[in-house]
Amino acid sequence: MHGAGTRPKRIAQRATQLAIALSLTALGAASMAAQPVAVSARHVFDGQKLLENATVVVDGARITSVGALPAGFRGLRYDLGDATLMPGFIDVHAHLDWHFNSQGRLHTGGDGETPAQEAIAAAGNAYVTLMSGVTTIQSLGSTADADFRDAINRGVIPGPRVLTSLGSLSEASGTPDELRAKIRDFKARGADLIKLFASKSIRDGGGPTMTDAQLVAACGEGRAQGLRVLVHAHAAEAMKAAVKAGCDQIEHGIFATDEVLQMMVQKGTYLSPQCSLVFTNYLDNRAKYQGIGNYNDAGFASMEASLPQAIATVRKATSTPGLKVLFGTDAVAGAHGRNVEELICRVEKAGQAPLAALSSATSLAAQSMRLSDSLGTLAPRMLADLVAVPGDVTKDISSLRRVLFVMKNGTVYRNEATR
Ligand SMILES: [Zn+2]
Repeated sequence: MHGAGTRPKRIAQRATQLAIALSLTALGAASMAAQPVAVSARHVFDGQKLLENATVVVDGARITSVGALPAGFRGLRYDLGDATLMPGFIDVHAHLDWHFNSQGRLHTGGDGETPAQEAIAAAGNAYVTLMSGVTTIQSLGSTADADFRDAINRGVIPGPRVLTSLGSLSEASGTPDELRAKIRDFKARGADLIKLFASKSIRDGGGPTMTDAQLVAACGEGRAQGLRVLVHAHAAEAMKAAVKAGCDQIEHGIFATDEVLQMMVQKGTYLSPQCSLVFTNYLDNRAKYQGIGNYNDAGFASMEASLPQAIATVRKATSTPGLKVLFGTDAVAGAHGRNVEELICRVEKAGQAPLAALSSATSLAAQSMRLSDSLGTLAPRMLADLVAVPGDVTKDISSLRRVLFVMKNGTVYRNEATR
């Protein structure tokens, strides 16, 4: 589909990525031809189960059939051979705009970056995220996300579909009435969801911050406005307060106890824990973060100490029957495009079954976003978001690192299988 010279390299310079991105956008748009497209693979994960030797037929932006190639099919064919074809991955927790500035440091307000530099960096993040097979992200979130979401939807830049909280609220956001007003304001500005901080950072111990009254007000108003409320909480006490207040989803939850996980099962609260990437990414890029805010020696020490705890928590969560565990990487600067490392950690280090890990990143994630009628499953009438990796991914989860094929809304953005 694409020029042979434009094969993207994950580690390419941002400028190169963007140049490629722009040429791919034009080509991608051109590939939305009138003719249907059939994508075949030896292994097909439909969001729930594995099929053998199946074909997904796409017409325009949507899937029309999954199974045998329809008799007399006329259209474009991609036979990916010994590969696993899956729904595009859905990362329920990313930060699209976090990036390193031209000095190789975490970008923060006041470092002299121009709005154009900020926008280019976020566009680069969106591009590498899409190329890694993540076709939908939930950005938790900044005001600028709205422009990225809308530009991606218009086809101006290539990137994953974006849902965003446009910002966040915390214990300092005011009285219960003030919180309710702020949630209505987020809704008026086009937020897709609400993000609360109900505990301190892991670098500061993770203890509770918001009061019960604040949580009840915020999660109640979110529900009244039809917006899901996602709550950052590390300590079990903070998680419990959020679950009791009827909030929809807990982010992190590293100090989760069996008791609070059982409460979440009862209430149907989603959990988005992190197994590794967010911690290893900070440690790998320590010099780029060190000295900014709470990225100090004590903060890095607590993150390093958290690594075994994180794996243990994910192991406990994914082995709790009935608990809805999502794929949420908390991708920040340095982690974009490596989102699947989280799933690899879950399977290889925390013992999660491969199909359960893949379901959490597809059908369950779509359900959590109330988008399961269009995303997360390969079935007729669903949006055609597809990703393929070599071999049988359930036998070797690390093949998620070797993405061969990416389609979003019926447009092919990456195809390395048929070269
Ligand atoms: Zn986050």
